[in-house]
Amino acid sequence: MTDYTDKKISIVGAERSGIGAAKLCKKIGAIPFVSDSGDEQKLSKRLGELNTFGIEYESGSHSERIYDCDLMVLSPGVPSSSKVVKNALDKNIEVISELEFASYFCKAKIIGITGTNGKTTSTKLCEHTFSTAGIKCFAAGNVGLAFSEVVLEATENDVIALEISSFQLDHIKKFRPDVAIILNITPDHLDRYENNFMKYASAKMRITENQTHDDYFVYNSDDNIINTMISGVKAVKVRFGLNENLHEGCYILNNKFHFEENKKDQEIISVKQFALKGKHNYLNAMSVIAAAKLLNLKNTDIKKAMQTFSGVEHRLEFVRELNGISFINDSKATNVDSVWYALQSFKNPLRLILGGIDKGNDYERIAELVIKNVAKIYAIGSSAEKIEKFFKDKVEVECFTDMNICVNKAYQDSKKNEVILLSPACASFDMFNNYEHRGEVFKEIVMSIN
Ligand code: ADP
Repeated sequence: MTDYTDKKISIVGAERSGIGAAKLCKKIGAIPFVSDSGDEQKLSKRLGELNTFGIEYESGSHSERIYDCDLMVLSPGVPSSSKVVKNALDKNIEVISELEFASYFCKAKIIGITGTNGKTTSTKLCEHTFSTAGIKCFAAGNVGLAFSEVVLEATENDVIALEISSFQLDHIKKFRPDVAIILNITPDHLDRYENNFMKYASAKMRITENQTHDDYFVYNSDDNIINTMISGVKAVKVRFGLNENLHEGCYILNNKFHFEENKKDQEIISVKQFALKGKHNYLNAMSVIAAAKLLNLKNTDIKKAMQTFSGVEHRLEFVRELNGISFINDSKATNVDSVWYALQSFKNPLRLILGGIDKGNDYERIAELVIKNVAKIYAIGSSAEKIEKFFKDKVEVECFTDMNICVNKAYQDSKKNEVILLSPACASFDMFNNYEHRGEVFKEIVMSIN
């Protein structure tokens, strides 16, 4: 491994991963310098942490100083196309992602989890499963702590379940997880990939590019895009999926999760006993069961974990039942595909709250399910008009500019046994700070109804 003692390392982006990388630099004796083009006030909470650790930084813009370095480390928020990255590469500076940098110091086993949807749920389920089996497991990356924050603490007996976005994979060189999981690849974040879906898909596939036949590549074999991209994979391929013809890897047979190992079929747990709702969560569970089996966990521990997982906030989260009407917070559903799965997850008629900032959504994907399962759409935020235009011939639609009025109207309209579902298919920034804020506001409104 390269000795970074006294090496100058510029870190671009002062978000969680950037700060983590800067702290890691300090711990290994390097000299970090953090630069973020955001204004200081916005970054104040994070920059305070840098002061505590005696790490130098600048904000507001990037000065020439960032190019005076031996290595540049990028936070995932910094696009490859940005001027800083281009300038650094022109100056022959090595540019890597925070993920790549942290991996140089990792002794623990890495389960790398990527995909368009389900990363956080699967990462948290992974953490819960290994912890249930008595193995220390850190959930890190996009969820929980930055990889750089935990990497020195984790020993060779531990596991790091690492949630990885395609942005972090953009600048890897040697990153090699012991188990790489790809959950699905559907259109999202295309703005960062020149509106080129295959570029986005290829970025995701990079999770396996440095793996060898000593490693495992766990993938959703129901996903046609992934299937077309796996021919060059060197790792041992392990499939999972809902397709009833699948009888290898992890699959469902007679309503039970199964895992096939050395041609022997093992029953893990019945679908009914699994703690989460929805087919998408069955897929997430299968990816984790596969990883757990490949790293030699006992079936009894895996079963216990699958039964006791409490789910993740803002993902099909049950909020309350009032007079036979249930409220579900799925604020994290920021693209159409996740809404498709949400609509699949309920047998009861739905009142769907949809809208926010549209990232080029094609609502055709959910049209059929909406006609079948949705009593009325409550369109909110800047995309309300587009939603109304698309759905008005198919189902009743009403537009709102205020979440409180919207939720209360949905409740007034509801009949017993219906479900009011916030699953917006859009980003939240037109009305909220982020999806968590949107979910919190929704929950507060729901709890205040009497
Ligand atoms: P990510 O971290 O990839 O954004 P999350 O676990 O946070 O994924 O879930 C994001 C949204 O996608 C939620 O609305 C959730 O219900 C939905 N979702 C979760 N898993 C999947 C999956 N495997 N396929 C499609 N949608 C999913």
